[in-house]
Amino acid sequence: MSAEPLADLVPAELPAGPARRPKGEGRTGSRPALKGWPGVGPQLAERLAKIDVFGPSDLILHLPLRYEDETRLTPLADARPGVAVQCEVEVLSSEITLGGRRQLVVRARDASGEVTLRFVHFYAAQQKQMAAGACLRVFGELRPGFFGLEMIHPRVRGVEPGAPLPESLTPVYPTTAGLAQSALRKLVTGALRHNGLRDELPDGLRQRLHLPSLPDALRTLHAPPPSMAIADIEDRGHPAWQRIKLDELLAQQISLRRAYAARRAKNAPSLPPHDTLTRALLGQLPFALTGAQARTFGEIARDLASAHPMQRLLQGDVGSGKTCVAALAMLQAAENGRQAVLMAPTEILAEQHYRKLAAWLAPLGLEVAWLSGSRRKKEREATLARLASAEILLAVGTHALIEDPVSLPLLALAVVDEQHRFGVRQRLALREKGQAGESPHMLMMSATPIPRTLAMSYYADLDVSVLDELPPGRTPIVTKLIKDERRDEVILRVRQACLEGRQAYWVCPLIEESEALQLKTAEECYEMLSAALPELRVGLVHGRLKNDEKSATMAAFIGNEVQVLVATTVIEVGVDVPNASLMVIEHAERFGLAQLHQLRGRVGRGVHESVCILLFAQPLSQTGRERLKAIYEHTDGFVIAREDLRIRGPGEFIGARQSGVPLLRYADLEEDAVLVDIARGLAEEILRDAPQVADAITARWFGGRASLLKA
Ligand code: ADP
Ligand code: MG
Repeated sequence: MSAEPLADLVPAELPAGPARRPKGEGRTGSRPALKGWPGVGPQLAERLAKIDVFGPSDLILHLPLRYEDETRLTPLADARPGVAVQCEVEVLSSEITLGGRRQLVVRARDASGEVTLRFVHFYAAQQKQMAAGACLRVFGELRPGFFGLEMIHPRVRGVEPGAPLPESLTPVYPTTAGLAQSALRKLVTGALRHNGLRDELPDGLRQRLHLPSLPDALRTLHAPPPSMAIADIEDRGHPAWQRIKLDELLAQQISLRRAYAARRAKNAPSLPPHDTLTRALLGQLPFALTGAQARTFGEIARDLASAHPMQRLLQGDVGSGKTCVAALAMLQAAENGRQAVLMAPTEILAEQHYRKLAAWLAPLGLEVAWLSGSRRKKEREATLARLASAEILLAVGTHALIEDPVSLPLLALAVVDEQHRFGVRQRLALREKGQAGESPHMLMMSATPIPRTLAMSYYADLDVSVLDELPPGRTPIVTKLIKDERRDEVILRVRQACLEGRQAYWVCPLIEESEALQLKTAEECYEMLSAALPELRVGLVHGRLKNDEKSATMAAFIGNEVQVLVATTVIEVGVDVPNASLMVIEHAERFGLAQLHQLRGRVGRGVHESVCILLFAQPLSQTGRERLKAIYEHTDGFVIAREDLRIRGPGEFIGARQSGVPLLRYADLEEDAVLVDIARGLAEEILRDAPQVADAITARWFGGRASLLKA
């Protein structure tokens, strides 16, 4: 299963920002380590590259995760268990115990009491440092042990009694194996001294914001004054953090706005509405458009009339009727004598679109071409020739559409269904198909809703239309969570529903590690159900079937010759069989939230009450439990997406790691929604009044990669 990232909608030219690093986890740097950095040898440079530090200016933006207070000494007697403190002690004795595990055990005391320091891992040098009589500053948590108070593996520093204490809180940085905090601290201090950053924001702007200057904010975060309480500075709401986050958001907004402007500068064929073919289709459809369909098509129609390429995302929950909006848009191109294509990620889905469009458009005397990997060579060549001569204006297909021999000389509109299944390159290839000097209009469709704040920042380069209304007459889907021991009862339910004339999907467990195992499970599942339901016809579709086998089984299911369809996630997207009213998902706990929502959306498409049964196996992981709870409690795709975002975090959510979108390190789009709004306004102002400031800010956050934007 290759769930392509959503976020790669944003043009490939965008610089890839460092990924948000959850809890100090390192990431393999995508850039080579810097050479010739004074005081930084090749090995150190490589380790720094692992944490995305490629030079002094990156170090300055490498901010602490948390802080430790070494500015004061706590008498042993005053230390509370579980709170990290620094104590100054004198060593009484030190010995290596051999009973059980080899340990270094050090007894020490200060004026208020005694403590045992224990080390399981230690070097000979440490043992020497902690010889009897030595004066030590130890930093760690005290806890009650067998022989009184203990500190396990405290951080130890040998000092002269009464040596001066540091004046600021000690920062703890995200790091990686082999890169010590002390080394990082030294490098950061040097960078701050020699490469201090300027605040590029004009004074007037900064004063309006009531935030510290950038250099002040950075100094505060790297070396907080001793008067500052740890809780205050660790709180990301602190003005210094706010200033950093605003800067980061500004860089992101500026980049996205520039990408948007670059697109607006390109040419596209203008396709004004003539209301001929589109009106004919509306007369032909067995239903009236929903308000949301009419509104979104209006938005698209206006874009198509423009001489600049549309780049619009049509977002609508499963079953909201996106296909029909796409068909109308394609007809607006055809009305202008131009070509339009619809690309879908799977053969099943592309074929379903093809059938639907062909049926809708045949009465209008319009032919639709069908391109997929499974077409026979002769047929395929004939189709290609008619597309190349623009004898056929409309085509539907899989990624076969973007292959080399396909020529679409009059291409004016490309629709990409379930766009997140495609990569940037595939969409770019589609864009190349039109006439030289022209970019076709692009309409992307997705049922995976993007929370508003994410859409706003990551999709600044996109216009978004939302289908926020389902066609009338749908009965809500009932979701049930059932332990998998009760599978027999579920089979009875399937039997009953089918004998009443309905149909059912049975989704077999997802096995991501091995395709062979996945196949085996699907086949076993099929055999089990065939044996258990002799009076019904059971079909099987999975990714390894030949296309014509898949399509024959799907056709049989659509025609109700097959009542139970055993499937892998190949049916996850788009499949539309209104008579199917029961969806069973085995090992639902293994699926992602978006996947579960998509799968459930395959039912509830007709007039019959639909049920989705989620079979799960225990024990459940924490996130597995949270996901099942979310899918059980919510049906609204937007709410589910928000839950998904909460459970997985934004980086995961939009898969931005692979996508080349500048991800945020410090700002959080949900939590910092207010800052996002401010940054958007500021970005506009800065781009208008002070473009050189915009360059400096993006360069700071995206380094050399920012220049790519101007390409
Ligand atoms: P999705 O947005 O998930 O791609 P589809 O385009 O597959 O949804 O539409 C789901 C079903 O709803 C299809 O059977 C379609 O023909 C039907 N449909 C679309 N628009 C309307 C409408 N306005 N009224 C009634 N049914 C509609
Ligand atoms: Mg669809």
